Amino acid sequence: MTDEGPNAVAWHALETPTIATKLGTGLIGLTPEDVVARLEQYGPNQLAEDPPPSNLTFLIRQFRSPLIYILLVAVVITLALSEFIDAAVIAAVLCLNAIIGLSQERKAESAVRSLKRLLSPRAHVVRSGRDIEIDRRDLVVGDLVLLESGVRVPADIRLISTSALQVDESMLTGESGSVVKRVDPLAHDIIVADRRNMAYMGTGIASGRGRGYVVATGNRTELGAIAQQVREEDEMDTPLQQRLSRFAVLIGVGVGIASMIAFAIGIARGESTSQMFTIVVAMAVSAVPEGLPVASTITLAVGVRRMALRNAIIRRLPAVETLGSTTVIGSDKTGTLTENRMTVQRIWVAGRYIDLAPDQSSIQDDRHLADGIESTGDFEPLTHLLHAGVLPNEAHVYSSDEGPIVQGDPTDAALLVAASRFRSDPETVRAQYRVLEDIPFEPERQYAAVVCQDDRQTIAFVKGAPERVLSMCSEMLTTDGIAPINSDAVHRAARDLASDGLRVLGMASRALPDDTRQAREPWQPARMVFLGLVGMIDPPRVGVPEAIAKCQDSGIRVVMITGDHADTARVIATQLGIASSDAPVLTGVDIESLDDDELHERVLRVSIFARVAPEQKHRIVRALQAQGEVVAVTGDGVNDAPALKAADIGIAMGRSGTDVAREVADMILTDDNFVSVYAAVEEGRVTFDNLRKVAFFLLSTGVAEIIVIIAALSLGWPVPFLAAQILWLNLVTNGLQDIALAFEPAEPDVAERKPRARREGLLSRLLWERLLVTGIVMAAGTLLLFRWELDRSGSLATAQTVALTTMVVFQMFHVGNSRSERRSLFRMSPWSNPILIVATIAALAVHTAALYLPPTQYVLRVEPIGLTQWIRIGAVASTILIAIELHKRVRRH
Ligand code: ADP
Ligand code: MG
Repeated sequence: MTDEGPNAVAWHALETPTIATKLGTGLIGLTPEDVVARLEQYGPNQLAEDPPPSNLTFLIRQFRSPLIYILLVAVVITLALSEFIDAAVIAAVLCLNAIIGLSQERKAESAVRSLKRLLSPRAHVVRSGRDIEIDRRDLVVGDLVLLESGVRVPADIRLISTSALQVDESMLTGESGSVVKRVDPLAHDIIVADRRNMAYMGTGIASGRGRGYVVATGNRTELGAIAQQVREEDEMDTPLQQRLSRFAVLIGVGVGIASMIAFAIGIARGESTSQMFTIVVAMAVSAVPEGLPVASTITLAVGVRRMALRNAIIRRLPAVETLGSTTVIGSDKTGTLTENRMTVQRIWVAGRYIDLAPDQSSIQDDRHLADGIESTGDFEPLTHLLHAGVLPNEAHVYSSDEGPIVQGDPTDAALLVAASRFRSDPETVRAQYRVLEDIPFEPERQYAAVVCQDDRQTIAFVKGAPERVLSMCSEMLTTDGIAPINSDAVHRAARDLASDGLRVLGMASRALPDDTRQAREPWQPARMVFLGLVGMIDPPRVGVPEAIAKCQDSGIRVVMITGDHADTARVIATQLGIASSDAPVLTGVDIESLDDDELHERVLRVSIFARVAPEQKHRIVRALQAQGEVVAVTGDGVNDAPALKAADIGIAMGRSGTDVAREVADMILTDDNFVSVYAAVEEGRVTFDNLRKVAFFLLSTGVAEIIVIIAALSLGWPVPFLAAQILWLNLVTNGLQDIALAFEPAEPDVAERKPRARREGLLSRLLWERLLVTGIVMAAGTLLLFRWELDRSGSLATAQTVALTTMVVFQMFHVGNSRSERRSLFRMSPWSNPILIVATIAALAVHTAALYLPPTQYVLRVEPIGLTQWIRIGAVASTILIAIELHKRVRRH
């Protein structure tokens, strides 16, 4: 079978029937048995994945941080001073940090991988005569694939039919601009870039539709051959960490200057150089929040996981942070705010309204009469209108055991259902015509059209947004036959339907001279006959009004950006609580006429944007941002990509969205539901809160340590901490607790607070102030007990042990303080974060063990302490609770 392998055949040079025979397939696609056999033979349709980065790569990465450089310098200095134990401890801590970091990154990496798998793209195929969606990896040679704008070609495909199909092949050929595809056989020996009848894996469909047979999958595709060069650029970089690095550089410089000053003072006072070096190293070590990078990554990862549980998948880690400060959400209407389950409710044809009985979404139900009209035979103009809905249409009806089922675009599906309710079977209608030219629906075009032929004539049908269709009509169908167009009557009827919240489509047709299709250029609809209007309902999604209300409570404005009619948009917006019934609506036409300044001013007051083309969405996003808003925007089409990219948070639809939209998005909704956008914003806030708690907790230790050292130095006391002890505190005992803070549940006021200002840094002003209070209290307590112990026992080692233990116990209490910025610890349930309790007990246990076990005693130079000392330490350390509770209380008022 190997020389029969797909690449051995010049598929582009063959005639379509030959291809099908050779591939053992046909127009109804493969059967399940074929698929199983072929999957076994060729394996899944996927490129050999990159092996995950090696442990060594990860390990090296751990040392590439300015924070770590400072510690490396400390190792060198201690070595130079022959302080081998200190050097060894710092080195050991560095290794420990690297190992923790490594395992965390591994976890994050595998989490990201499994998320990617969750998002594994789908492919649209015909199998056993049915149009279905499958996991792209299950695609096999011979499968009949359907391509539409926005998708990435899922395998190498020989096209057998196209309509206005254009493919962007730049990733394969390096040539920008789209290539128009066709189906006829080509010369045998042409290069890939010239094979106009092939679509290659990984290239993007820019517009149009096509279908074709898979000729190669996985590594046997052209892309597979060059896969080593094409890497997914899905790196999860976090500006937060960049910011932390910059912060670290700042600390480094600060520590450098402070150390030199301290050094100069010490020397002037007659201290020995080596003594001063030890102090400087200790200072450097305390100023560096060693645990912060790891803790922040974990906090973000925890946030990502929580969001995934609520149907929002984060593609870029920093998005978690930005979500928390979102001020405006721009949402699509159809599918996100509404169900995207369309049902035709009212038809306006030849000047007459026809109401369809409600809630008959099932195609089976043909009992229901509409105004006495039972079948199209009862009213001739209706036949024509329904044909205009059925022919330029991408949905399909299949018969199944449970009766007929409809598949495809919901708007199109609704039209098929409507036709069959008038006993006009869509597939029979289609069989009557031969399609000569097909112009598929694209949002920016706002219509779909076909030119086709039956046994009598050549005829064109158009369906689309009423204004758009009207603009191509010169005549219309009335009760008295064909008459010149009366735009006012059409507008009036369209508004009538739209003001009931219906989505409205206009239909038109025109008989063409039989030789029309000799022309080479694509057909342009003009001088059409307007047939009538179809209005369909699309019910709002359950839970959306509540989610919108919650957004508004938390200071987030929700705006609707839709391609639909202004009146329809307003009715739905009113139902959902986005705007009042007399709210202003800005349409695409209005936007076109406004310059940037005017638009900037308008977007602040308008919450409904209707008949907006995708490019205009981009302008709306930019205008909102120019007003200082942090904008999250949803989108699904190819042309939404610029808007998604421009937005602070681009949100793509997991189900209905195109691959292109998904690739540029920061976040993907697995259920396409607006409620999940709100959930993600809420989790974003929680995550940022927790990030802040972690940072505050870790920085408190550093501030206290520095105050202690500087105070001791200026008082002429011995240094209370050794470098190794500080690392122990910062990384081991704190390290257990900071991670637990990442798991803090949401505070009750997350949903009521105003969005955080974008400028506001990791810590708020309140927290900076509190940091100082904490530092002073902790330093005072530590110095007090240190002096006491030094005077009592005269042993520096014992006094240092007491000082270190005091800090450890201080932090045990202080982690409780860090749980909320404003709320009292005593108003929170101690059980709401059990991990924190475990971590705190663990930190104390580890520290106690270190005091009593010889190896750690030796390395950390600590000594066992007695019960009275423990009690004293406990009493002093608990003052931090009182101090911070007081601070919270004072600041609340
Ligand atoms: P939305 O923002 O509601 O998704 P769209 O851009 O999908 O809006 O659609 C805009 C308008 O285009 C609709 O109001 C409708 O009149 C028309 N339209 C939508 N889908 C189709 C279709 N499949 N065929 C023809 N016209 C369509
Ligand atoms: Mg749409």
